[in-house]
Formats: sequence, C-alpha cells, structure tokens
Amino acid sequence: MKSVQIKNSDERYSIGKIVCIGRNYAKHAKELGNKVPEKPVLFLKPASVVIHSGGKVVHPNFSNELHHEVELVLLIGKDVKNASKEEAKGAIIGYGVGLDMTLRDIQKQLRKVGDPWTIAKCFDTSAVISDFTLKEDYKLTFDEIIQLKVNGEIKQSDKLKSMIFNPAELVEYISSVMTLEKGDLIFTGTPSGVSKVIKGDKLEAKLGEVAELICTVV
Ligand code: ZN
Repeated sequence: MKSVQIKNSDERYSIGKIVCIGRNYAKHAKELGNKVPEKPVLFLKPASVVIHSGGKVVHPNFSNELHHEVELVLLIGKDVKNASKEEAKGAIIGYGVGLDMTLRDIQKQLRKVGDPWTIAKCFDTSAVISDFTLKEDYKLTFDEIIQLKVNGEIKQSDKLKSMIFNPAELVEYISSVMTLEKGDLIFTGTPSGVSKVIKGDKLEAKLGEVAELICTVV
C-alpha cells in the first residue's frame, strides 16, 4: 500500500486513486497543439505507480520520449460527492509537488487512433510525490512558483495563478463525476516547458516553500 507522508508529522495517508488533470495551463495546452478546455480533462493513475522523493524513475524500454510534467498535487482529507465550492475547498487538506511522468510518443500514438492514454501515463514509477504540507500549516496564495529543473537547468517555471481551473473548482468538478475519498490525490496539470529526459538525468521539483522533491531517471 502506497502512502503520503506529511511534513513535520508522523501522520500518513494511504493513497486511494490518483486523478490527473490535463491542459490546466493555457500555454502548455498550446505547446502540445491542444485547445484550452472548457471543462477539466481527467484521467487516472493507479496508486501502485507512486514513488517518493529520492526515488528512481525507471524509463520504460518501449518509449523514446519520456517527459516530465511538474504539478501541484492536492491531498483529499474526507469523502465528497457532488461537492459545493465550499465543500470542495474543505475536502482539500494538504499540498505537495509531483511529477506526472509521461511517455509522449506513446500518448501521441494512442490519441491518433482514439485509444485511452493508460500506457503513456500508468507505467510503474510514473508518479513521483514530495512530502505534503497540511493546509492548516500553509495557506496557498497562488503567487507560489512551481518549478522543475533537469540537471540544474530550469525547464518549467510558472505561478500557480496561471492555472485555468483552481483546486476547489477541480474538486467540485471531479466529485460531480466520482466520489473523492480520504487519501485520494489530484495532480492539477502542468505548466509549459515539458521536455524529454533520459537515463541519468536528475530532476528537482519545487513548489514555493511548500514542497520539493528530487529523483533520477534510470
Ligand atoms: Zn500531467
């Protein structure tokens, strides 16, 4: 069973499902040639693919284009279904930073024929997460910068303000489709600047003073 570690606490949350949002930053939607969506684009990852900061992303041998996507990750603290905006806000109890590792070449092939993205998004080690900060310990202002470096070079950097749908809107929308449960994670989409990584690369992600992670590709 995979779990989330809370900063400065022994508390742990068993991870349920991971709901991911596509195209939540306009510039990133454009860089992949997609329209800016009217509703959030949803897909899932299983909890079994999660690794923690300090871990290794294993490059699948059936892809030649492994991309990093740095994202704000929300931790859900209570079960919600058809949440109002207020209930949605209240259901989020913590924030972390995560990497939604993506096989871009495989994703493009699957999209071309209209198949689901599962293989491109759900391979083992495709979700890297930091320790989480509880909302009661830190209030997001959305001026925080979310950033990713590869081998020390900044590849992605944007303010959380650039998100099209904010965390409460995402929880409200997702819970209109499926019940969100305590321990579920929401990957909220990536800013522009996604790029290919290869074996040996060192990735460092940071969300303001809220969360940070490192990992290597092997
Ligand atoms: Zn993503």
